[in-house]
Amino acid sequence: MELQPFHSDIIIEPFRIRSVEPIRFTTMDERRQLLEKAGYNPFLLKAKDVLIDLLTDSGTGAMSSAQWAGMIASDESYAGSSSFYKLESAVQEITGFKHLIPTHQGRAAENILFTTIAKDGDVIPSNTHFDTTRAHVEHAGAEARDLVIDEGRQPRSLYPFKGNMNLDKLEQTIQEVGADRIPVIMITVTNNSGGGQPVSMENIKEVSNIARTHNIPFFIDACRFAENAWFIKSREEGYADKTPLEIAQEMFSYADGCTMSAKKDGMANIGGFLALNSDEWASQCRNLEILTEGFPTYGGMAGYDMEAVATGLYEALDEDYLRYRIRSIAYLGDKLTEAGVPIVQPTGGHAVYLDAAEILPHISSRQYPAWSFNNTLYLLGGVRGVEIGTVMFGMQPNGTEQPAAMELVRLAFPRRMYTQSHVDYLAEVIISAYEQREMLGGYEIVSAPQVLRHFSAKLKPID
Ligand SMILES: *Cc1c(COP(=O)(O)O)cnc(C)c1O
Repeated sequence: MELQPFHSDIIIEPFRIRSVEPIRFTTMDERRQLLEKAGYNPFLLKAKDVLIDLLTDSGTGAMSSAQWAGMIASDESYAGSSSFYKLESAVQEITGFKHLIPTHQGRAAENILFTTIAKDGDVIPSNTHFDTTRAHVEHAGAEARDLVIDEGRQPRSLYPFKGNMNLDKLEQTIQEVGADRIPVIMITVTNNSGGGQPVSMENIKEVSNIARTHNIPFFIDACRFAENAWFIKSREEGYADKTPLEIAQEMFSYADGCTMSAKKDGMANIGGFLALNSDEWASQCRNLEILTEGFPTYGGMAGYDMEAVATGLYEALDEDYLRYRIRSIAYLGDKLTEAGVPIVQPTGGHAVYLDAAEILPHISSRQYPAWSFNNTLYLLGGVRGVEIGTVMFGMQPNGTEQPAAMELVRLAFPRRMYTQSHVDYLAEVIISAYEQREMLGGYEIVSAPQVLRHFSAKLKPID
């Protein structure tokens, strides 16, 4: 008898925990009072009253001992800091882009890029623009046009790359508006506003070909580039044996630049950058950077932030980490699907989306089913997600309310923060809310501002 190699299908957290942050247990009665005091709006809850906080994966993750060590050893020189050169070399190795423009977060990179290159009457196509991207495109007077494939709008479609750009629509857009009115073509990886769904290498390559044929620069919104690389590795033919770093390098090789929020796959609590090849655009962007962010070798970041990001970008590409990351999301998705809870399929890279319209057919859009379900998760288990439905998207610029296209509750996972037992507990809370769904009622708005009302609206349950 020979000793057989041990094999396990369990994907354990690829880290051990050496610094802990207590979370606070509350009773259901306490949570009922806390929620009422918060105007039934989870954004207005204090974080210390939340047990498992899945409001966002942005800037909420845990940093590694290597990142903290780098922060202590950082260089805070105003000009030419070694922390800048460390970040520059990381960004250049991973993306291949020539110029690095550090910023305080992703939207600052968007502001600098679009203020510099877009103008009134321009059109900027993307698979789906993220909210802040759209806002900056529109702020520059241009139109942000979403051209995701049809499967990307179907919650039950199992297509493996639901974030892909519709290439016919891209060609049509170029024919219709003319290449000279399209300063840049963007693609968001993974497609955050479309459920965190990935974009295939083939699609990135084809978008790049179209852009090059028409002489239009092509930029990647790279916030979740590492998660996207993992989906390419595990789902696209020919990539199984490549490392996430090699895949990321190939993705970026088809583009002329990228915008990045380091609060996502930079594994940091703050930070971002713009990276690009064009000398002319880089020098114009740097002029604006000095005005709005800071000197070009720190932008909006402290030296220690640049250290955290330089190390974090590589940690995000670690295979064991990515396997655990993507599996944690799928693991919750599988448990919910087994229990019959309808979710957006397949699960994406950073969040699980619950389909509240299907869970609560007795609550009309005007009574905010996803808001109701999300509040129920807090009441039952101290869990905080976010409504992505009619409260968030229903208010029209003319002051009328329209039902949103979907009523979703998004549960976004902070990176390296929660363990499997947290996720097991989370599944139980969601399943319990689902089993009691017929008892749930709708909500009405008591007061709300005109724009971005979900952040500060006060609501109340309808009896
Ligand atoms: C978060 C995000 C941004 C904006 O980044 P911030 O750091 O929040 O300013 C842009 N695009 C996508 C896809 C994002 O997820």
